[in-house]
Amino acid sequence: MALLEIRDITKSYQNHPLLEGISFVVEKDETVCLLGPSGGGKSTILRIIAGLETAESGQVFWQDRDISAIPPYARQFGLMFQDYALFPHMNVRENVAFGLRMQKMTENKIEESVAEALALVNMSSFTNRRVTDLSGGEQQRVALARALAPRPQLLMLDEPLGALDRTLREKLGAELRGLLRKMKIPAIYVTHDQQEAFSIADRLLVLHQGRIVQTGTPFEVYSRPASPWLATFFGMDNQIQGKVVSADPLMVTTGFGDFECACPQGDFRKGERVVLVFKPAGAEVSKNAHVHNEIEGQVAESIFSADRFKTQVLLKNDFCFEFLLESEIKANQNIRLFISPESILCFGSNL
Ligand code: ADP
Repeated sequence: MALLEIRDITKSYQNHPLLEGISFVVEKDETVCLLGPSGGGKSTILRIIAGLETAESGQVFWQDRDISAIPPYARQFGLMFQDYALFPHMNVRENVAFGLRMQKMTENKIEESVAEALALVNMSSFTNRRVTDLSGGEQQRVALARALAPRPQLLMLDEPLGALDRTLREKLGAELRGLLRKMKIPAIYVTHDQQEAFSIADRLLVLHQGRIVQTGTPFEVYSRPASPWLATFFGMDNQIQGKVVSADPLMVTTGFGDFECACPQGDFRKGERVVLVFKPAGAEVSKNAHVHNEIEGQVAESIFSADRFKTQVLLKNDFCFEFLLESEIKANQNIRLFISPESILCFGSNL
């Protein structure tokens, strides 16, 4: 039995459909990440689950029970937003205690739960500090302690690290992941940032145009995006149209030559129109002549990035592709690159 089940949720604003048939489950101890462009309806899904918004159709089940009629406070779900929403006139302790007082807990129990929650986020020494005196990262930790203190059955995090700089985001993201695992709290994490989603999720749900267009582990989704749109969303912009010349092995002819492709997303027939995606990490400078899987161009720019060089290559017809190469190649040099069949995705042109 799934802990949480969302079944066929639809929602529109001003006659504009925002969510169309959203269905997914969250299992025990699982962190599910809703990933998609801003404005796509991710927060609206969280608000519907929390009971702060009603869906036009569809249902929300908790342990097989329809909770649509249960008010937000009785659902015992924790919510945490990007803007922390801490109370500026209260100190750290009072901010964390707020939800507990609403539950009419005894003072002793409140004190105990606040101390426990602050210890979890490494903020015990800040108990009496004013929240306005804290840094962004510290405020974010207090907000997390406040969401955790009532021991929610489900934690929902809406772009919780969005206001922080990248280094802090990575550090707190790793801490958050450890905390969710340790506490065994099922969680739904919303973000538009793929790196953040990859680092935190057990399972990803990618939302596009009101629908969930792909689900899977971060590795599954990134290595096999289900459409050219998803490939672009994951930064795989090297795309070109072509036509199948043989189905097995799959060989596609394009304006840049012929390419064998080992990662077809479906079955293709000879003569079919397709879109090829060259993953940035799949190219190397050609040492030998190849009859296929080769492109020629001129280097526009080569920028060091971690242990590779992000290299922009100008090709025929004003195409510009970007590859991650092992060594730097000076601008304006002509190069020939071999593209490995394993790094080429092939999609039907109707996707
Ligand atoms: P995301 O979390 O993916 O950024 P949201 O769920 O916040 O997306 O909202 C998506 C869009 O839905 C918003 O850009 C807005 O146009 C619309 N929307 C959300 N809430 C309301 C509302 N209460 N009234 C009217 N439009 C809304």
